[in-house]
Amino acid sequence: MSKPIQIRRREFLKFSLKAGSTAVALGAIPITLLAQDDKVAEDEALSQAMGYVLDATKTDTAKFPKRAGDAGANQFCYNCALYAGEESAEFAPCSIFQNRLVAGKGWCNAWVAKS
Ligand code: SF4
Repeated sequence: MSKPIQIRRREFLKFSLKAGSTAVALGAIPITLLAQDDKVAEDEALSQAMGYVLDATKTDTAKFPKRAGDAGANQFCYNCALYAGEESAEFAPCSIFQNRLVAGKGWCNAWVAKS
């Protein structure tokens, strides 16, 4: 038969504080790391469907005529209303891709002018 473990109140509180602060610290790290590494790739199914490219100048304008012509040539992720970052940011979240990172110089068929 095993003996019941007795923990003094002070020891229990110390342990709880350490566990709590560790959990808070661990909880904060993955958000930052995911945000840095979660870049949308061109070969993903949604990218293919939306015509997303890392370099907007490489858009297949025969397939996605929205980016053809002079008006289309000025469309980039960085000046799209859905680009959640500074225009100078190399990558920023986009709501079309569940807030994963898209390239500032990229483009997709959901491009909408900033108002
Ligand atoms: S919706 Fe806008 S920011 Fe998002 S990938 Fe398409 S062009 Fe880029």
